[in-house]
Amino acid sequence: MKKIAAIALVMMFVLTGMAMAETLKMGTNASFPPYEYYDDETGKIVGIDAEVGAAIAEKLGYDFEIVDMDFDAIIPAVTTGKVDFGMAGMTVTEDRLQSVDFSDSYATGIQSVIVAEDSDITSVDDLFAEGANYTIGVQQGTTGDIYCSDGIEDKGLGTVERYKTGADAVLALTSGKVDCVVIDNEPAKNYVAANEGLKILDTQYAVEDYAIALAKDSELTEKVNEALQSLIDDGTVAAVVEKYIPSK
Ligand code: GLN
Repeated sequence: MKKIAAIALVMMFVLTGMAMAETLKMGTNASFPPYEYYDDETGKIVGIDAEVGAAIAEKLGYDFEIVDMDFDAIIPAVTTGKVDFGMAGMTVTEDRLQSVDFSDSYATGIQSVIVAEDSDITSVDDLFAEGANYTIGVQQGTTGDIYCSDGIEDKGLGTVERYKTGADAVLALTSGKVDCVVIDNEPAKNYVAANEGLKILDTQYAVEDYAIALAKDSELTEKVNEALQSLIDDGTVAAVVEKYIPSK
């Protein structure tokens, strides 16, 4: 009898373990439209990353779950296995490559500057100019934060205010707490469309590759790359991008 109970217990653990392994968890920060954001009506996380991530999981035969967290918590969540991958309009950088591996790139981002319509900042160069002293809002831990911290604040050319989400940074701009927000171009367009009195400066800088972050030497990386490639080849990725960034 004892033996049967022990076997049942082992089976239970095995089955629970198997059930858990079947869900692929994606870490993201759902304040980055059109890549990931909460749909007002359904309250669900939608966007390019949400849909491409789901398609990758489906292709690989997993259930799918999105875990929303601060942007700068995503890489630690990947390295500790709290999530299976991070997908958050995340730029491939040398620094991040020290902690994680990246999939092949699936999109491009460009850093943009959002200002009030009547701002005296007319070009990104104004932020880096000698004698400049602007207060710049960024999302903490993003490449925008890194560029402004290293290129402006560390050089005594201004102050960087770091916010948990892009939405919070934009709120600081509309309420006059910061002079501009440095953020990726597609979210910038979304935030400007959603808020009166803001514009994006023409001069954009830093073209970046977005990719999926995975644990170093993970067996998943090759599978994710294969799934991603086939979703690019069969037009799925292009259709998702077109849905969220209509070309006309
Ligand atoms: N592409 C930027 C980065 O990787 C911003 C990403 C984000 O805010 N979700 O840092």
